[in-house]
Amino acid sequence: MSEIENLLREDLRGQSPYGAPQLDVPVQLNTNENAFAIPEDVAAVVAEFIGRELRGLNRYPDRDAVALRTDLAAYLGHGLTADHVWAANGSNEILQQLLQAFGGPGRTVLGFMPSYSMHPLLARGTGTAFVDAGREDDYTLSPAYVRAAIEEHDPGLVFLVSPNNPTGTALAPEVVDAAYAAARGIVVIDEAYAEFARDPHATALSRLEGRPRLVVTRTMSKAFAFAGARVGYLAADPELVEKLLLVRLPYHLSSITQAAARGALACAPQLQAEVDELKHQRDRIVKNLRAKGLPVADSDANFVLVGGLRDAAAVWRAILAEGVLIRDVGLPGRLRITAGTEEETTALLDAFDAAMARHPEDFATPAERTEAQRGESQ
Ligand SMILES: *Cc1c(COP(=O)(O)O)cnc(C)c1O
Repeated sequence: MSEIENLLREDLRGQSPYGAPQLDVPVQLNTNENAFAIPEDVAAVVAEFIGRELRGLNRYPDRDAVALRTDLAAYLGHGLTADHVWAANGSNEILQQLLQAFGGPGRTVLGFMPSYSMHPLLARGTGTAFVDAGREDDYTLSPAYVRAAIEEHDPGLVFLVSPNNPTGTALAPEVVDAAYAAARGIVVIDEAYAEFARDPHATALSRLEGRPRLVVTRTMSKAFAFAGARVGYLAADPELVEKLLLVRLPYHLSSITQAAARGALACAPQLQAEVDELKHQRDRIVKNLRAKGLPVADSDANFVLVGGLRDAAAVWRAILAEGVLIRDVGLPGRLRITAGTEEETTALLDAFDAAMARHPEDFATPAERTEAQRGESQ
């Protein structure tokens, strides 16, 4: 063991950091980013908002980001105000702050994997024990399953993801209600992909009223095409929001970030049009891959999870050889694909055709697929 390794916290020794490959490939459909660049007119508005801050950069930003939180609350609706909302550098920082405030050494967060790979890493970084309750065989979650897991582990926090990454499906409201009723701790619904849901009313925001331990996290990384700006936020009871001030860094969200986010929020309708187009491309992928005989669950996100692969790693390489980068999330026989622009999506579907023609042995036979399809939600 090196001297540095020896000095490292024991629970971090030998661990690897988050690392989705950032390869230089023409078509990148691997990290669920928004495929569209920021439109010129939106970029102009964002630049104007940022420009107004530049001369004042000698001063620290508004620690409490009140103007941004006011705009975020107005965007969310559901009667929420700035007091219900908190913002940070990506929803990853939001989740980290929740763990710092309500988790930590001696405490547990319960998750249901396969789900967002950062949840266990954020738990580890904050010294919170991560317990994986798994999922049902078809990766869905029923109210009874969630209730039993929470009753068994009695965690300080529960992390649920809706729509779930990497499976793509939204949770039924009854699952959120069952989790809240069973838990004594904080129940976090990570809604990073909420704007892509087929049913726009399928959000836990409508369940916040009268549930002070419920938290809904959101991000501007996906629907707002703002992954590079790093803006995430949450909605919760004002008392819970106040407690997060105990763990945030004094001026965690820069003036430039706050201004950029407000500029993008002012353009929400323009950006929503691109969300609609991505939903269309997502449904196109689902339809086309099904037509090729591959099982794909309906998706409420900007990505789909395709199955029916005998050797997922080999298919991933074959698709990459066609110039399209998708994601091997480590699930046997499955790969995750982010919806792209119309051209990118065409390139992806062509790449699948080419891979199936060149390497049929990497795909399950029709008989095997029919078998696997049983139990898939279609
Ligand atoms: C992409 C993603 C996020 C977003 O994280 P940011 O830090 O806001 O970019 C959060 N949760 C899930 C489940 C995601 O897939």
